[in-house]
Amino acid sequence: MESMVACGIDIGGTKIAGGLVTSSGRLLYREERPTLAHEGGSSVVARAREFTGELLARAAREGFVPVGVGAGSGGAISGGRVVGATSLIKDWTGVDLQAGIIPDPRLRVKVDNDVKAMAHAESLWGDAREARCAVVVALGTGVGGAIVVGGQVLEGADGLAGHLGHVPVWPDGPLCSCGNRGCLEAFISGTAIVKAAQTRLAQEGREERLANASAVWDAAQGDHPWARATIEEAARAFAMAFRGLVYTLNPDRIILAGRLSNWGEPFRQLLWRHLNAELPEHFSRNLSLSLSRWGSELGILGAAALVLEEMVK
Ligand SMILES: [Zn+2]
Repeated sequence: MESMVACGIDIGGTKIAGGLVTSSGRLLYREERPTLAHEGGSSVVARAREFTGELLARAAREGFVPVGVGAGSGGAISGGRVVGATSLIKDWTGVDLQAGIIPDPRLRVKVDNDVKAMAHAESLWGDAREARCAVVVALGTGVGGAIVVGGQVLEGADGLAGHLGHVPVWPDGPLCSCGNRGCLEAFISGTAIVKAAQTRLAQEGREERLANASAVWDAAQGDHPWARATIEEAARAFAMAFRGLVYTLNPDRIILAGRLSNWGEPFRQLLWRHLNAELPEHFSRNLSLSLSRWGSELGILGAAALVLEEMVK
C-alpha cells in the first residue's frame, strides 16, 4: 500500500501547492508555484495540469505507483466545475477543473472545494476520524468550511454544503465578498481583519498601512486598543456563527485550519473562550476546538485524500 501515492494539488489565489501523498497520509514531496491568477482561469488550469504531470512523473521515477490526482480550490465547486468563485482568480467561475486537471485519462481524478478536501484528510487521518460530527473551518484570505458526520463529508444537495464563510452573523455588518452584509467572512478573514483594523487606525487619525492580518494579531498582543478591539470583534463573530452551528449540528469537534490558525494556541484559546461562554454545558461538554495538526500542508493532503479515501476506507 505504501508504494501507492496520490498527487494533491491545492490551487490558491497566489500559489499552487502540489505534492505526493501516501495512502497513510504521509507527504513525500511538496512544491509551490505561482498561480498567476490575473492570467485567468484557463491558464491557471493549464499550469496546474503541467505541474500535476511533473509530479506524477517524479512519483514514477522514484518507484511509486501513482493512483490518482486530487485537486482543491476556493469557491463553490459542483460536479467538478467551479460554479461560484470570489475574485481571487480571474475568470475562475465556469472552469471545468475535473476535465482540465487530468494529464492521464487512466488515472482517477477528483476535484472539490479546498476546505471540503481538507475535511477529507481530517476524516481519513486526522482529528475528525474519531469524531461523531466535526466542523472544519479554514480562516485565511477568506473563510471556508466543511462538515463531517460519522466520517462522511457532508455534500448537501449539490455538493455545496459547508460554506461557513457566508453564514450570517450580523444584518448590518461589513460588506462580504459574496455581495451580502455581515457574513462570518466579513469579520474573521484575513482581509476583513486588516480592513477593520485599518478603519480603526484611520479613526485615530493614523495613516500607517498594515501588511497583513498577522500585523493586527501581533499588535493585539501588546497595548494597542485598535488591534485588540479588532481581534475581539472577530472572535465574537466566530462565536456567534459557531453558536448557531453547534445548536444545529451538535458537533464534538471543531478543527481550525488556514493561515490564521498559525497564530496558534493563544488564538485557539481566545476563540474557545468566546464560544464556550455562549453555550450551555450540555452542548459544550463533549465539544473541543483544536488546531489542525498539519498547518499549511493540509491543502495538499486534503486534495490527495479525495482520491486516496476510496482505497483506504
Ligand atoms: Zn458572504
